Parts: sequence; structure tokens; C-alpha cells
Amino acid sequence: MSHIRSKNTKPELKVRRWLWEHGYRYRLNVKDIPGKPDIVMRKYKTVIFVNGCFWHGHVGCDKFVMPKSNVGFWRSKISRNRERDRKNYKILQEAGWNVIVVWECGLKSSSFEETMAKVISKIGKNPQKPFEYPAPDSGFAAAAEPDAEYKATEANAFKKNKN
Ligand SMILES: [Zn+2]
Repeated sequence: MSHIRSKNTKPELKVRRWLWEHGYRYRLNVKDIPGKPDIVMRKYKTVIFVNGCFWHGHVGCDKFVMPKSNVGFWRSKISRNRERDRKNYKILQEAGWNVIVVWECGLKSSSFEETMAKVISKIGKNPQKPFEYPAPDSGFAAAAEPDAEYKATEANAFKKNKN
């Protein structure tokens, strides 16, 4: 039950309801599809992920703020989530699916209609890479840098202690 509830978080419902009202039909949480997309539109060979900005690491987004404590832990956790997401998107695209990622921050009332307009403009398309809206900052590499620094600092501290 808790699993089902977690899959019915509000942002996904908002997107589903809108699509339904606009005549799009879909299936939910299809288990045999990598990454268990929130919305599967077989007719359009399109999957939609509705991603929470923190857990999935929406780089450059207001909602993606690293907690002040356990920075290393959170950074590697979010980094792993992102990596897993990328891997799933890649598998899906290689299998011919069009991947659309809707970030939660794009679903506030003020930007919702605009976001959904972008989303439907991409349904049934076959782009080379996942379409994400709002697009994350180009540099995930830049966001990953502090992680590397963190590790380097730790390693240095470790070396110092050994000497
Ligand atoms: Zn965001």
C-alpha cells in the first residue's frame, strides 16, 4: 500500500489529470519498463517521468538545495539517483522510447500550463536525448565537482593522518 501511495504523489496526479482531460490516454507505473515511468503512452511510444527536484537532482533549481549537514552523503546519494535516471533514459531511448522528464518545479500553478504545452509538443517525437522541462543547468559536471573535491580532501586528510 505504501508503495502505491508513494507512486500517487500530487505532481504526478496533476500531470495525469491534465493529460486525461486533454484526451491523452496512458498507463501507469508499468513495471516491465526500465525506471518505472510515471506515465506510459504506448500509442506515442512516449514515457513521462515526473521528477522531484531534490531526489532526482534538478541542477540549478531553487528546490534543489543541498542540506547543510552530511553534505558528502547527500551529494553522493543524489548523484547516484541521477546516474540511475540517466541509465534508464538511455536504455529506454535505445529501445525506441521518447523520454520526457517533467520537473516538479515546473508544475506550480504559475507555470503549469506552459510546462504542459512543452510536454505535449514533445509527445510522439523521437529526439536524440530526453526532453527535460524546465531544463537543468547544463553543467552537471560542475555540480559534481564539489563531490570530487570533497573526496580529494578526505583522501588528503587520510594521507596526512597516515604520515
Ligand atoms: Zn526543479
